[in-house]
Amino acid sequence: MKTLDDLIKHGVAGRRILVRSDLNVPLKDGAVSDDGRIRASLPVLTKLLDHGARVIVAAHLGRPKGAPDPAYSLRPVADRLAQLLGRPVEFALDTVGESARLLADGLADGQLLLLENVRFNAGETSKDDAERADFARCLALLTGGEDDGGAFVEDAFGAVHRKHASVYDVATLLPHYTGDLVRDELEVLQRLTGDAERPYAVVLGGSKVSDKLAVIQALLPKVDKLLVGGGMCFTFLAAQGHEVGDSLLEADQIEACKGFLRDAAEKIVLPTDVVVAEEISDDATTQVVAADAIPVGSKGLDIGPDSVRAFADALAGARTVFWNGPMGVFEVAPFAAGTRGVAEAVAAVAGLSVVGGGDSAAAVRALGLDASGFGHISTGGGASLEYLEGKTLPGVAVLDGV
Ligand code: ADP
Ligand code: MG
Repeated sequence: MKTLDDLIKHGVAGRRILVRSDLNVPLKDGAVSDDGRIRASLPVLTKLLDHGARVIVAAHLGRPKGAPDPAYSLRPVADRLAQLLGRPVEFALDTVGESARLLADGLADGQLLLLENVRFNAGETSKDDAERADFARCLALLTGGEDDGGAFVEDAFGAVHRKHASVYDVATLLPHYTGDLVRDELEVLQRLTGDAERPYAVVLGGSKVSDKLAVIQALLPKVDKLLVGGGMCFTFLAAQGHEVGDSLLEADQIEACKGFLRDAAEKIVLPTDVVVAEEISDDATTQVVAADAIPVGSKGLDIGPDSVRAFADALAGARTVFWNGPMGVFEVAPFAAGTRGVAEAVAAVAGLSVVGGGDSAAAVRALGLDASGFGHISTGGGASLEYLEGKTLPGVAVLDGV
């Protein structure tokens, strides 16, 4: 793989460089509510601008349906990006239309243009190779093409598991380089799959077991401990034969959980107590109950204090920890303590601690935890899980070889 520094070595002043960034951030009332991914994208953009490149940034936001939709406009992101960069950001009203072409042609050295949400074009996510290639060709043309100095930098780690036009196809059309964010993310993930330093513990939570089955399967043989909290722990508790009330339950995954418990009982740590309530609200009446005594009609919405202590004990001597998925509905105050406690225990680990998953990273920031306690906070949830599952990431594979 060629790196951004390889590109810069050849000189980028005056050249139009297309960068795929991950700017897929949550919005609230039309403003960016968590700018973690924008911040993570700054180093590559700043490096290119400092070297006089004319930078064109392609990115997506949410899941619009292949057509313009103001609710998913990147405009608020452009504003925040400009603030954080400390430089003006040109914003195109379309992806590869007249606005994008005029602004791209008019870029001066050291200027940056952000295109409108690439998912406003159906070609971006199309399963039809030709349709995707058409859109990718239009994106590549914004740089003037290879003969005119155009090049592509892949820096959207959170999107590299997608075979999308701006992630995959465009790299086949332009000289392509790995951005620093993608490089750093891959380096850390390699350490979790190769010879991780032991003891090695994985903490999984979040809403769905079905999202995480493959990663459990891939990691269970490699780890010393697997701690399970969040909504997914109830399918495990049900697999042990316990009542889970109205908690999240994926009945069709019970057999799989039984299998994990059979094959690796000594590695799997489940909550011993649970915070339950009848509704998810800021003023919900909560109760801590034993994990094998969840009352009918109540929902398990966080792990309890004993579980937090047990999880922290299990993590205490670890040299490698990967944490994905909040321990409870951390967005709502009465159910945030489990995530906070486990996050603090992960941060206290002396070895390598990695946080993966969009909501987990958001939890670290939303709960005001000190991010510097973690070895690495990944910007990509799906991408990091798929990597750990051993899957090929199209946006990375396309960078291999030239
Ligand atoms: P990540 O993005 O870090 O991979 P997920 O997307 O898998 O995490 O899950 C995050 C969501 O899981 C959060 O919105 C959180 O509210 C929810 N969640 C966690 N615990 C529970 C629970 N006990 N019941 C319902 N939802 C839960
Ligand atoms: Mg998520």
